[in-house]
Amino acid sequence: MAGMHLIILGPPGSGKGTQAARVSAELGLEHLSTGDVLREAVSSRTPLGVEAEMYMKQGALVPDEVILGLIREELDRLGETGWILDGFPRTLAQAESLTAQLEERGETIDKVLLIDVDSEEIVRRLTSRRISSSCNPIYNLATMSGEELDTCEKCGGKLVKRPDDEEETVRRRLEVYEEQTAPVIDFYRKRGGLAAVRGAGSIDEITAELLRHLA
Ligand code: AMP
Repeated sequence: MAGMHLIILGPPGSGKGTQAARVSAELGLEHLSTGDVLREAVSSRTPLGVEAEMYMKQGALVPDEVILGLIREELDRLGETGWILDGFPRTLAQAESLTAQLEERGETIDKVLLIDVDSEEIVRRLTSRRISSSCNPIYNLATMSGEELDTCEKCGGKLVKRPDDEEETVRRRLEVYEEQTAPVIDFYRKRGGLAAVRGAGSIDEITAELLRHLA
């Protein structure tokens, strides 16, 4: 039987990357983050990365046709494996195109999860977010202390700020979210199968609530 197909939506900094990783591990799904694929492409200087970098630095969206090509390749690669999409779709055109791509495969979305967090909380969280320079985990200075503040506990690498986590860029990313991604929420709300949770509370509590919606 083909695996479950999920989408996780939420503003930048809502914790959707963290939650998508946990939900996918719990349910045996592939976690497909378009932001992670793009960052990887930027750091290895592939043609995709070179094209995407300037949009990402500005907090703007990478053009739909670029992202749609990337998603088509990734879905082909995953085949029958279930997945959770994190960071996609981010525009109405992407949502419509995903529906068409899935129809071609005789597949559907089982559930769309939405994490809701208000804007000022997001600015606070993102400007204190750090990532490891050489592996994957995400850290938040607001919840750390002392010596932990500048090295990754997993790989010992230096913790750095994502270039698009500067305050001005965060505010721009939030505007882009309101203008271009909020309509995607309405699109899935009207189709049914959207489950919203508040992004307040501990990481464990939010994971548990998301999993309850999938039970
Ligand atoms: P994220 O890690 O999901 O916050 O994504 C980081 C950046 O990658 C975004 O600010 C966009 O510039 C770009 N990006 C990621 N996913 C998409 C998408 N579905 N459509 C357009 N741009 C995207």
